[in-house]
Amino acid sequence: MSLLPEASAPSVPFSFELYPPRSPAAAEGLHETIRLLAEARPSFLSVTYGAGGSTGGDSLAVLRHIRRTTSVEPLAHLTCVGNTYAGATALIREFLDAGITSFLALRGDPPAGVGEDETFLGDLESAAQLVQLIDRVQAERAPYTEAAIPGLPGAARVQSRPRAQIAVAAFPMGHPRSRHAGQHLDALLAKQAAGATLAITQLFFHPDVYLAFVERARAAGVTIPILPGIMPITSPARLRRVLELTGEELPAELAIALEVEPTAAGQREIGVTAAARLASEVVAHGAPGVHLYAFNDHRVVLAVLGEAGILTPHKETAS
Ligand code: FAD
Repeated sequence: MSLLPEASAPSVPFSFELYPPRSPAAAEGLHETIRLLAEARPSFLSVTYGAGGSTGGDSLAVLRHIRRTTSVEPLAHLTCVGNTYAGATALIREFLDAGITSFLALRGDPPAGVGEDETFLGDLESAAQLVQLIDRVQAERAPYTEAAIPGLPGAARVQSRPRAQIAVAAFPMGHPRSRHAGQHLDALLAKQAAGATLAITQLFFHPDVYLAFVERARAAGVTIPILPGIMPITSPARLRRVLELTGEELPAELAIALEVEPTAAGQREIGVTAAARLASEVVAHGAPGVHLYAFNDHRVVLAVLGEAGILTPHKETAS
């Protein structure tokens, strides 16, 4: 199955990123969030792996829950960090065994306190290698499928195997640790050559940043869809944390608007409006959909889609 539009899907495809819950109480809240997000009919729900201290087991539990309780495609983030080749192979098999066939293959970041130049990765050194491994493990498990031949009981036609959908990360502002401007595009081309079928971007604050990146990527030979990742920034604290994690530049206008607004509700509104404007502008200029970082809260991202005109009112779910 494709991670982008189907005939019956909403006209502008959208998807959400979640992270594994950090406590049993948070798990209950997350299940309700998943139910409400699924009602909006996203193209997929992705679940982070190893980010912010979460573990693979937790990610898989959330992905299983999405698969069991909704009709939305679950998409598993997987990282290379600290894994052996055999360990990564076993992990991919475990996800495939659980019926998860869509992945976001990532290199991952060094653990806190470990420098970029130190050995932290394990056997796989880049996301491109993980893309290849996922494709290979899936091919070994299901080299082909069989389809019944009408009128010939017991007979079957051999068909090519359904391929895993493998998304990869893209960085409109360049990867924070790239040594030169073109290095990140080389990495994206390597991931595409390895079999990636979709790129999802790091957050950005201005539509031109995404649009110019897509233009540069196309000129360099990237042909896979590049889905813009949009993060609603609903407080000064979230903005600070995100800039720290991503190395992106401070968006001065948004930062000031959040700082001078005294109430949490007002700050939330500012964040929703900024994200909605970003979403509608990139879609108006040809983005193939929007991927929203949901922070395990359905209200903000559904409000963003409503304000951007992407969710029609009857599909909005208030709570
Ligand atoms: P890679 O594509 O392997 O490359 C990273 C950089 O290394 C490149 O940009 C380039 O500068 C250089 N490079 C690598 N290969 C080449 C090459 N062949 N030629 C030239 N340069 C090269 N992290 C988590 O731990 N868990 C998550 O769940 C998670 N989810 C994410 C979701 C999204 C949408 C994004 C954008 C990031 C996410 N991350 C996550 C963060 C990600 O793991 C880090 O940003 C990491 O530093 C880079 O990962 P990557 O997959 O882009 O790495």
